[in-house]
Amino acid sequence: MRVLGGISLAVLCLVVFAAEETVAVDNYEPHEVTPDHMDQTGEHDGQYYYASKHPDQDAGDATERMGEVNRSRGSPGQTGKHDGQYYYTSKRSDQDAGSATEGMDESLTGVSHSSGRTDQTGEDYDQYATFASRTSESVGSPLIGNRLLCPDVGKTCFRYNRNSRLRPECWAGLDSHILIDGPGDREFPLNSCCDPSGNFQSPINIHATRRLERSRDSLKYDQDEVEGYLQNNGVYYKYVVSGRKPILTGAPNQEGVGYFLDSVHFHIGKRGDRRQTEHLIYGKSYSAEAHIVHHRQDYEDLEAASAHPDGLLVISVMFELRNENSNTYNHIFKHFEEVRRYTASDFDNVCTLENRRLAALELAGIINPEEECVNAVSYHQTDNCGLMKSEPGCGEHITGIKVNPRFLLPNIPRYYYYEGGLTSPPCSEAVLWLVGERPKMISQSTVDLLYQMETRIRKTELGDYGNLRPLQKRRGRSIRHIQFE
Ligand SMILES: [Zn+2]
Repeated sequence: MRVLGGISLAVLCLVVFAAEETVAVDNYEPHEVTPDHMDQTGEHDGQYYYASKHPDQDAGDATERMGEVNRSRGSPGQTGKHDGQYYYTSKRSDQDAGSATEGMDESLTGVSHSSGRTDQTGEDYDQYATFASRTSESVGSPLIGNRLLCPDVGKTCFRYNRNSRLRPECWAGLDSHILIDGPGDREFPLNSCCDPSGNFQSPINIHATRRLERSRDSLKYDQDEVEGYLQNNGVYYKYVVSGRKPILTGAPNQEGVGYFLDSVHFHIGKRGDRRQTEHLIYGKSYSAEAHIVHHRQDYEDLEAASAHPDGLLVISVMFELRNENSNTYNHIFKHFEEVRRYTASDFDNVCTLENRRLAALELAGIINPEEECVNAVSYHQTDNCGLMKSEPGCGEHITGIKVNPRFLLPNIPRYYYYEGGLTSPPCSEAVLWLVGERPKMISQSTVDLLYQMETRIRKTELGDYGNLRPLQKRRGRSIRHIQFE
């Protein structure tokens, strides 16, 4: 049972790899309606072309006022009750074995997306089977309509290292075990939204499938200044709005609906790789990518919103290497060095906990030391380092950073719009993506600071593996090209 589970999961991962490596990367002509089978999902070595245009200068934000900047620490006091004894559940009664591989070429609607993953580690924990089956029955598959929708279920260690058990191809197996923290015996949905056979996964290689359209709306925030803090959560640098959140209006098909600005975080590739951004635009990678994360104003918060197909709106901003940084982003970038180190406590660091658990399972012969996918545990304990959480945490952070949100956006209001998902677990297919056509500026020294960020994997810097999810298939989605007012 255990062995079979391991093998089937390994086969699944091999299939995913094989599919990626055999897809040709060509044909980047703008505005062509691209058939689904031409989607680019591989590593794209040598296939990018590079920008010849100068990124737009930041306009008008030179006068922006800068607030006081303070150092603070996270709240370590919330972590004391964990004694290293983990409880977890493992049974998925709703498995539909094998459908992930069948689903690879399916078109848009009406298919089942369970992944055929079987657990490898749960048999010694039968005492929790009751909880597990209850959870499966009450929540079942995350497929709702044709979306994989997973609210945040806790914190999971996931990795970008392609040799790790927790590499992106294994993410769909995350959260099938859930750590129960003491008396908080809540029911969590079993989470497999990172399934690459999902129809709305991200990131993707952007090809507009329609001609440029002009919108009479403009993307606008209702305030000129936000205050926030900067932290290193071990996955990326994250700027979190801590005061009143500005509301963005003007998103496509969202008349009268606003989205709260929550946070901005940054993605970059492995040092030396050609791909340095999550999205590609006509096969082109830039030097880094920011994600400006919003949630719909009528949903309570980011986590609640991530269970709705239109719950989140993320604006992607590309950065191109120049002599200096864009002015507004520089207000954030200039503090990277101060939070370069990952200072979360052991109990806040889900990867430290996961390492210990895996080491124990190896020692007990429950998993073998080869680096196959393994079902990771989601740790539900303190909230401080959760990717979707807004509380200051993860050790040291810098507060009081003020920016004008308007100038976080590209200067020319031209975007690619498509419906997708979060690019890191829980990968919920709940995101309206607006990918800016024109890049902002980033300096080499800032790129270096991104690479030098300490991650939550011990002794690892961000530049060692990057934080880019592999490209996902477009699967027939339309990608609009919109110029806003
Ligand atoms: Zn992101």
